[in-house]
Amino acid sequence: MQNLESFKVLLESPKKVVITTHYKPDADALGSSLGLASYLRKKGHEVNVISPSDYPEFLYWMDGHKKVINYEKGQEKKSAELIDKAEVIFCLDFNCLYRINKLGEWVGKSSAKKVLIDHHLDPEHFAHYELWSTEAAATAELVYELIVMLDDKQLIDQNIAESLYAGIMTDTGQFKHPNTTRNVHIVTAELMGLGADISKIGRYIYDNNSLDRLKFTGYALSQKLKVLKNLKTAYFWISAEDLKKFNSKTGDTEGLVNYALSLKGVVFSAVIIERPDTIRLSLRSKGEFSVNDFAKDHFSGGGHPNAAGGISDLGLEETVEKFEKLVKTYEKELIKNNKETK
Ligand code: 5GP
Ligand code: MN
Repeated sequence: MQNLESFKVLLESPKKVVITTHYKPDADALGSSLGLASYLRKKGHEVNVISPSDYPEFLYWMDGHKKVINYEKGQEKKSAELIDKAEVIFCLDFNCLYRINKLGEWVGKSSAKKVLIDHHLDPEHFAHYELWSTEAAATAELVYELIVMLDDKQLIDQNIAESLYAGIMTDTGQFKHPNTTRNVHIVTAELMGLGADISKIGRYIYDNNSLDRLKFTGYALSQKLKVLKNLKTAYFWISAEDLKKFNSKTGDTEGLVNYALSLKGVVFSAVIIERPDTIRLSLRSKGEFSVNDFAKDHFSGGGHPNAAGGISDLGLEETVEKFEKLVKTYEKELIKNNKETK
């Protein structure tokens, strides 16, 4: 952070703080928000965490979850009031205000000091303070570093350590994506030293499936996976009806995209899902093919070089058609990128 000294001064006296994170928070979004919230409360600030939507049940173990304000669950007015009264607003794990939907408009207009803590590419510069690095594997890694920078490492207790650990574990794909740096392991070791029970957190997040979710995954794998072998691409297409059939809940489709990428020879994978208001795309790649660029250029989205998301305002079938047509135009990039498949 460039203006760290003035940031320290800002937090010297108790403030009304709002922490917000991206729509449909994942473990990094929620874990970094709740870890930071707990730390700031210990420092005497009045902190509210506002989520633009609900999030998966497998995150309910996080300390502070019960206090989270879900904007979409009849809490619009409360969210607006809190943002209006806030003196400091932390924006975690997202880079542009559109990712928090309606809340983005209010945050944009608010006179509070805004603090961006994020690791996505191409941030919008709407904040007064930015702790932004694409070198960071997770926003949780940055939150840990912020607390250390503020000389408060001793305030990280087991609950904070576990929320932050969850963000790092999931955003590195359990320490196997290329973003798993030496620093990631150092920070993880520190969090373990501060009490994080990593085996417990692994079980909470990965061994917590409903039977519906497992059956849905089986169905998607057997019926809804298309492999474009010559383009080293594989994708799932999931309709609203498919989701309904398996009583799908928030988080049930998380990780599906990785099955497609796990196929031998595949360097680009996608899940195209029909959500109530839009078609969502979740994109992953191995190696040089940038899904951030792909999402940005064709599906109003973005993210990281190897993990990104976007939306489409066409129907499901038309989006699938558009996707297939587009992939063909990247034949050179996808085939050239075959170092990964040896
Ligand atoms: P997922 O496929 O898990 O939804 O998203 C993959 C990554 O891309 C995550 O880091 C997520 O925050 C980011 N991402 C997903 N959708 C968007 C989007 O519409 N815009 C931007 N900038 N990032 C996105
Ligand atoms: Mn993240």
